[in-house]
Amino acid sequence: MSIALAILLSTLAMIAIVGVRYLATSGAFALATRLTRPGLYTGLDAQIGREIKWSLYSAVIYGVPAGIVGWGWSNLGWTQIYSDVTDYPLWYLPTSVLLYLIAHDTWFYWTHRWMHVPKWFRIAHAVHHASRPPTAWAAMAFHPVEALTGAIVIPLLVFVIPIHVGALGAVLAIMTLMGVTNHMGWEIFPRFIWNGPLGGWLITASHHQRHHERYGCNYGLYFRFWDRVCGTDGGLGSFAVRTGPARTAPVGRGDAAGRIAAGGGADG
Ligand SMILES: [Zn+2]
Ligand SMILES: [Zn+2]
Repeated sequence: MSIALAILLSTLAMIAIVGVRYLATSGAFALATRLTRPGLYTGLDAQIGREIKWSLYSAVIYGVPAGIVGWGWSNLGWTQIYSDVTDYPLWYLPTSVLLYLIAHDTWFYWTHRWMHVPKWFRIAHAVHHASRPPTAWAAMAFHPVEALTGAIVIPLLVFVIPIHVGALGAVLAIMTLMGVTNHMGWEIFPRFIWNGPLGGWLITASHHQRHHERYGCNYGLYFRFWDRVCGTDGGLGSFAVRTGPARTAPVGRGDAAGRIAAGGGADG
């Protein structure tokens, strides 16, 4: 088989994995939302359709660098991914997961802030904020430019930071889980986590909800570190109480819509 064909097949396989993973995870949490909070997504069918469409485009973009690097890893020994757990001390397993989350969070925070500069917001990030309020299907609803900034992170990190293939799986699982639950419109974690001392540093749905309400704060992905250091932490958001077709606007929604109408997001 030619190299080009092998890379193409690897890329198609990655696209399928990312796409199916998205549909399965978002689908499962959308179902959980329906069962536990009936009516929360009522009236959002058209928006959900757009969220799924953009997310599947994103799956294609995510699959390309992953497919190329995956092929290089299995055929040419590229990357620092290792499969023998004894190659590094055991303590390195959780450490490597944490390093990846910190690196990804840092990349996300700064690219996210960049995408809130009005010019770039209109080009690259308005698609994501068109979800008002977001649903479990919005996890990968990104414009292709934004999807590209997300797609290259892990495929680049695997060249720099050694990681066991299982720990990499854990990173991808956390990434997928948090991407979905942060947009779901309700907290899946117990109150003591997001409302207690841990919640002061970890990002869950309440924190990201406020980003979708107010735009100009809460840019982080996993940790509140950069938001707190840079003075962009806006605290926790509130969730709309929706039990039927009559919708209650979440706090700050009108404000957010006004900002969009005024020409995009606000930085800082
Ligand atoms: Zn979001
Ligand atoms: Zn944003």
